Amino acid sequence: MEKREQLYEGKAKKVYATDDPNLVIVSYKDDATALDGLKKGTIAGKGVVNNRMSNFLMQLLEKNGVKTHFVEELSDRETVVKKVSIVPLEVIIRNVSAGHFAQRYGVEEGIVFDEPTIEFSYKNDDLHDPLLNAYHALALKLATREEIEEIKSMAFRVNDVLKAFFKSLNVNLIDFKLEFGRTADGTIILADEISPDTCRFWDASTGEKLDKDRFRRDMGGVEDAYKEMMSRVFGN
Ligand code: ADP
Ligand code: UDP
Repeated sequence: MEKREQLYEGKAKKVYATDDPNLVIVSYKDDATALDGLKKGTIAGKGVVNNRMSNFLMQLLEKNGVKTHFVEELSDRETVVKKVSIVPLEVIIRNVSAGHFAQRYGVEEGIVFDEPTIEFSYKNDDLHDPLLNAYHALALKLATREEIEEIKSMAFRVNDVLKAFFKSLNVNLIDFKLEFGRTADGTIILADEISPDTCRFWDASTGEKLDKDRFRRDMGGVEDAYKEMMSRVFGN
């Protein structure tokens, strides 16, 4: 496996070509952004936590029948993944009210739902990732009807697996964002990352926030929260 030219630099990761056209290398940075890009900073060690945690969770999901982009961890910050064409939807699953859900509907954070919810936003920074429903996604040809059905059922399956796993670490999985992509043969697989950047984690006993909300909300203890999640997942 040979690392070639940089294809893309995003807010949190860089993507490199390899000598295999079906594989890319993702490299996790410590850069953090929030509030639609308005807030910028670094979280020391975040790239390592997100890379290793995401890889661990993707492998757990594979064992539970969810196809993912994970191929091989190269180092603390770099991983080989299957190259996909990303479906431009941010898929958000919620088990408990928080963040934009609480704001949008005028309810407090922490309401436990009887059933998980799903929502989509159009992954488009210029438009500020507007919320849309499956009909809008179809109208905009972002995905086919079959792909949307597949994405929905995969996203709920991911929730079942992750919720149970984090519960065993005394962590409640509040909500999270997923991205899916199409491989060369058109198969839909889980891509991007699953980490404290993309999930809300609350300690099940104390309610303490162990995720990027500590950065978004200037709560302090950001690095410690990422480290705490890392040690719960991997043990000390
Ligand atoms: P952003 O683009 O939102 O700033 P990142 O900094 O995380 O996000 O950049 C990583 C980019 O790589 C994202 O645009 C993401 O959709 C994309 N990506 C994630 N997984 C894959 C994959 N397996 N193949 C191709 N692109 C991917
Ligand atoms: N999320 C994400 N990227 C985004 C928007 C949201 O990873 O661009 C995650 C976020 O970390 C949270 C969940 O999706 O776990 C729901 O986020 P919400 O819609 O409440 O928006 P936020 O308040 O995080 O901006």
